[in-house]
Amino acid sequence: MTILLILSINTGSSSIKYTLIEIETEQVLIRGIVENIGAADASMKHCLKGKEEVFHAQYSNHEQSIQAIINTLLDTRHGALKDLSEIFAVGHRIAHGGEDMFQPTVIDESTLAKMRENIRLAPLHMPHMVRGIEIFRKLMPLTPMVAVFDTAFHQTMPPEAYLYAIPYEYYLKYGIRRYGFHGTSHRYVSERVARFLDQPFDQLKIIICHLGNGSSIAAVKNGNSVDTSMGFTPLSGVPMGTRCGDIDVAIVGRIMEYEGLSFPQVEKILTNQSGLLGLSGISNDCREIEIQAINGNARANMAIDVLCYQVKKYIGAYVAAMNGLDCLVFTGGIGENGAMIRERICAGMDYLGIQLNSDKNNVRLEREKDAKLISNEDARVRICIVRTNEELMIGKQTYEAIRNDVMKDDRTMEPDSSDCASF
Ligand code: ADP
Repeated sequence: MTILLILSINTGSSSIKYTLIEIETEQVLIRGIVENIGAADASMKHCLKGKEEVFHAQYSNHEQSIQAIINTLLDTRHGALKDLSEIFAVGHRIAHGGEDMFQPTVIDESTLAKMRENIRLAPLHMPHMVRGIEIFRKLMPLTPMVAVFDTAFHQTMPPEAYLYAIPYEYYLKYGIRRYGFHGTSHRYVSERVARFLDQPFDQLKIIICHLGNGSSIAAVKNGNSVDTSMGFTPLSGVPMGTRCGDIDVAIVGRIMEYEGLSFPQVEKILTNQSGLLGLSGISNDCREIEIQAINGNARANMAIDVLCYQVKKYIGAYVAAMNGLDCLVFTGGIGENGAMIRERICAGMDYLGIQLNSDKNNVRLEREKDAKLISNEDARVRICIVRTNEELMIGKQTYEAIRNDVMKDDRTMEPDSSDCASF
């Protein structure tokens, strides 16, 4: 059997995550991250067969960091490859596909040009991601590359869910609408929970609470995303680590006026100093806030209350949007680990058939397991924890995209009857 290796890449502004996956067995061979690129304390955390090492070297820019990742993959002690040709393809997580890129896409000059156009839709995230692709293409010119878009899964939303009630021409002229993000995670988790429950994915009504540093809620009906809490940008929806989530837009102008700030300054505050950090004044790290709340810190407790209340409201809205609910799923760092937060979110929703089992909820998801049921046995709605695995989803979709592309090429090369007649 040929071993199919996919390298899954997530390029951020100052970090690059990499995961080498054996696609048939879904096994992760190597995972790592280069962090604080360009800073004096830049480092690479590299994990081979569960053993983590930290390297400190010159990671001055993205190109140097990507070269270092490639060198490490090929290293006789720390790597798993003899030659780069052992990598079947590289899959890149891309923040925004706009309206026209909603399938995992094999990257060529024309798709890369489209991605450059989409930089305007996600100026904080797209430039590094596009740059990452350019560097990988330069350093691995013979390896196929695929873009997997974070917005793609949500492209099935109906217009009433994705349109904002602003002049329609802004949608037509500038593409201003809800796109939604975390699509790769929502897709992975909704498919995984259907398999876990042994139910057909295309016949379920699922709400996924992806709660991490960035958080979003998605409604998935019969296999399609029908609504999600993040919008035109990842700033909207529920409160996050440092992002504000939904607010009255008029607040922006008032803060500018009262504080004498420019729009970019206020946008920065809403992105980097709000959410759990802004409310609690303690941290963006939910674990720290939980500890302080348990120790009686009122602001910490209030921050958790605001988060849980907003998530609860989205759940109620999406039950209404889907006319019911079969399964409520928690994922992401907080969703998978935060028992107290899950408990507060689910409290008082028994009229919807949501009944969390406290004993099951308080037992951590075992390391070797990736899904768990935490609802009461007789409850109408199944509540599950599912460990998200965006890297694996990117790997699988990358493989599929290459296979479909090859099959498409084979079909176009098939001789038609007129060719046969010429013999
Ligand atoms: P990102 O959006 O950056 O991928 P993660 O999904 O890794 O973020 O989630 C990070 C969040 O998960 C942090 O706020 C962290 O405090 C939280 N978290 C991790 N473990 C726990 C825990 N045991 N209880 C509550 N929150 C947790």
